[in-house]
Amino acid sequence: MTEELTYSATTQNTRSILPAGMISVEEARERILEHFTPLDAASVPLLEARDQVLAEDVFGGFSIPPLDNTAMDGYAVRAEDTAGATYEKPVTLKVAGYLAAGSVYEGSVGPGEVVRIMTGAPIPDGADSIVPFEETGEQDEANAGTHWEQAPRESVRIDVEARPGANIRRVGEDIREGDLVLRAGTVLGPAQIGVLASLGHAGVMAIRRPRVTIVSTGDELLRPGEALEPGKIYDSNTFSLASLVESYGAVARVLEIATDTVEALTARIHEGLEGADLVVTSAGVSRGDFDVVKDVLQREGEIGFWTVRMKPGKPLAFGTFPAAGGAVPHLGLPGNPVSAMMTMELFGRAAIFMMLGKGDAWERPVVRAIAADRIRNSDGRRFYARAFVELEDGRYIARLTGPQGSGVLTSMALASGYAVCPEDVEAIEPGEECDVILVDREGPLPPPETIAGDAEFREGADLAVDLAVDGKTVDVWGFPLEIIARSVLAMVELLKGVDVPRSVQLKIRRRVDGDSE
Ligand code: AMP
Ligand code: MG
Repeated sequence: MTEELTYSATTQNTRSILPAGMISVEEARERILEHFTPLDAASVPLLEARDQVLAEDVFGGFSIPPLDNTAMDGYAVRAEDTAGATYEKPVTLKVAGYLAAGSVYEGSVGPGEVVRIMTGAPIPDGADSIVPFEETGEQDEANAGTHWEQAPRESVRIDVEARPGANIRRVGEDIREGDLVLRAGTVLGPAQIGVLASLGHAGVMAIRRPRVTIVSTGDELLRPGEALEPGKIYDSNTFSLASLVESYGAVARVLEIATDTVEALTARIHEGLEGADLVVTSAGVSRGDFDVVKDVLQREGEIGFWTVRMKPGKPLAFGTFPAAGGAVPHLGLPGNPVSAMMTMELFGRAAIFMMLGKGDAWERPVVRAIAADRIRNSDGRRFYARAFVELEDGRYIARLTGPQGSGVLTSMALASGYAVCPEDVEAIEPGEECDVILVDREGPLPPPETIAGDAEFREGADLAVDLAVDGKTVDVWGFPLEIIARSVLAMVELLKGVDVPRSVQLKIRRRVDGDSE
């Protein structure tokens, strides 16, 4: 599986042929982030506010708890009435009433009296401590299977001396009226949302979620659900990108696919600008169909085409389009599915976090890990290898998830991290340490071995062919002409001893490792 990476270790010094004007990941990000600031605040229903940033200070409008209340189910007593009580010499007191959480006791607890009380109920006037059921005669009765509900009693045995204040939660123990409870800028996680609810807020002023329009471009694209046709592929970018955008906390608006004509793309861009804080397109920024997209973008807005010193994801367009509500930034991602996702992770995520008011938090955690495989940097671009990251004996181990071509989307699907081979490092050897960007994934990952065992690319080879005759397989590799000869020979070999083959399969894979992205 690492063969593909090894292959890209060409003997010539490819660094010398880097296109001029290539910019670093950091520079590209800096140039992009100049166009983003936190969005305005809006009132959000509490349940929709998770992970948004609070836009105003929140003070306690009242104390929590608002009244002294009991932390235990038990009896509210006057501590002095229990003086000297022990298991050997308990005291018996009169049950004057019953109080569940949610009500206030009317009247007051007089000398020699107690009130049977449930957790959360306010302490009745006159009482100053709570004796839990476990320290009263009610425990024996419960053990004997007699419950108070079935046989309420007029008195109760108290087995211990109560300490004044025992088992009472004091007013304002959590929040005191007037306290600054949550500061503007706080990210609203489950606990913060719970606190707001405890203060009675049904909604909250938070920096609103960015609206991100997603447009895939390409004549070859079909939407999942449509019947596959020769030469066509399903549009995966719309779905992976929209899912990423939503996972960052933005709202994705997905448009119909734009075909590769100036008119189609122009129309889509106009449609996509409406109400958008960011327009994301995929494909059309590499050399092949560069021109149509370039024409449209340059005619309609101010767009720069960059080559970024990273792999996958070299070609990137970034600029702004004029729109009714002001200029809208545009991120033109490369079309190859891994490149599209990786550039969204490195640039789109930062832009969205900036708009969300979380500009300092876009970076994913980075850990040092031991590379289990060779991670080869073929041409002086920072290489983000998709890796399966595991913690073994307290150390992270990063294994490649298989072939690393920019079209191998399953390499992303298996990844729990991106292992980074810096621009100026030719290879990270097995056993060496590297930085790994951790991607949040839940649940155990399948091991990388689950990738289909396709024909291997050999050192120097350009093509790999899987041949199968009646289920007997062989893999062939080489260069375009050589492979024809080899394939014929291999086929002859496979056909030996087969009378009439019922199935012959040929699968040719071209190396995509050295592609432009
Ligand atoms: P392009 O940038 O248009 O040259 O596209 C580069 C590669 O990405 C081509 O192989 C396209 O077929 C592929 N591609 C472009 N858009 C998508 C998409 N939305 N989903 C999957 N693959 C795509
Ligand atoms: Mg295209």
